[in-house]
Amino acid sequence: MDCDFALLTPPAHVIAATMATSAGERNVPRGSLLRRSPAPCDGVAVEVLSTAGWYTVPNPAAPGDRGCVPAAALRPLGAEAFVALRDAPGLVAGELLAAAPTCEASTVRFDDRAVPLPSLAALRAITPESLARVESVRSTYTALFGPIGLHQTPWADEGYVGLPLPDVYDTARVEAEVAREGLDTPARREKVLVAAGPGYAHFWGADAAWSDIWARPETIIAVLRTAAGWAKACADAGGSEAQCRLQIGDLAWYDDVKPDPLGHKDHREGRCVDLRLFRTDGSAYEAWWNRPDDRSGAAAYDAVRTTAFLRWTAENVGITEGFFNDPAVLAAVPWLKPLAGHDDHVHVCLDADG
Ligand SMILES: [Zn+2]
Repeated sequence: MDCDFALLTPPAHVIAATMATSAGERNVPRGSLLRRSPAPCDGVAVEVLSTAGWYTVPNPAAPGDRGCVPAAALRPLGAEAFVALRDAPGLVAGELLAAAPTCEASTVRFDDRAVPLPSLAALRAITPESLARVESVRSTYTALFGPIGLHQTPWADEGYVGLPLPDVYDTARVEAEVAREGLDTPARREKVLVAAGPGYAHFWGADAAWSDIWARPETIIAVLRTAAGWAKACADAGGSEAQCRLQIGDLAWYDDVKPDPLGHKDHREGRCVDLRLFRTDGSAYEAWWNRPDDRSGAAAYDAVRTTAFLRWTAENVGITEGFFNDPAVLAAVPWLKPLAGHDDHVHVCLDADG
């Protein structure tokens, strides 16, 4: 029988609907899978089946929550397939299930697969267009580094894909990083690394979790090519893995609202990335070209490696624009420009055709 499933459509904001539930107001992210019910309501009565993957919102709705959403926010399921974002009864993380499911009393059937209804909480719908974008990133990743699952290759609903994150740190790992790096104040703590891939790592900073990992697929591919090639070039020049690792902050924001909170306007184009400065000591912490480490008071910024990275990437991947303020690096890298605010990171826009 028909499942009465619907998706929350992609609006400008990641919070696609707010609904009153028995537990209070809850925010439902776009891309969430809902089931319509005939209950009377000022809009469409729905039950939340799954909330969309990498979108984190305050006060999130949970599977099982019931409420009422505006009819205009809903879209019936069409050609979307489904990705298992984690293991669940009847599901293995990363597997792709067919479009157009049908429903039985306590199971949902995707072609020849019957999945228990509660396991739907682990699924996220994906359009054929998004799947093609994700697969273009995934095939590059696989060629450079080896296999990666669909559940580790994020996608957004408006055409962007996310930085592949095969290693998302759990709480214990984050706490270990906090202890190892001596992140003893809230301001230091938010600088901790939260996830890693081969040759790169990601930190949230002051931004919401996973809100700034998005970009055009071709840009993510360029980031991966940079990570792979630079890791080798840097190691060949004597750098350790920790000294060579790219510490990635902002790509593009997951909302289409203006102004976005990621500094300057280039980021919303999905072509640019902010990277921490390289450090002499291999610590996973920010460095400044013009001030010492705020934990130790010692200088840790590596101007030589930061210069080498900019030159290597410009030559081997392609950089269309770059900002950083260290006069020594500016003198050595003619295309680089100074810009206010670029003392603790380099901003580079990658040539996706390079
Ligand atoms: Zn930037």
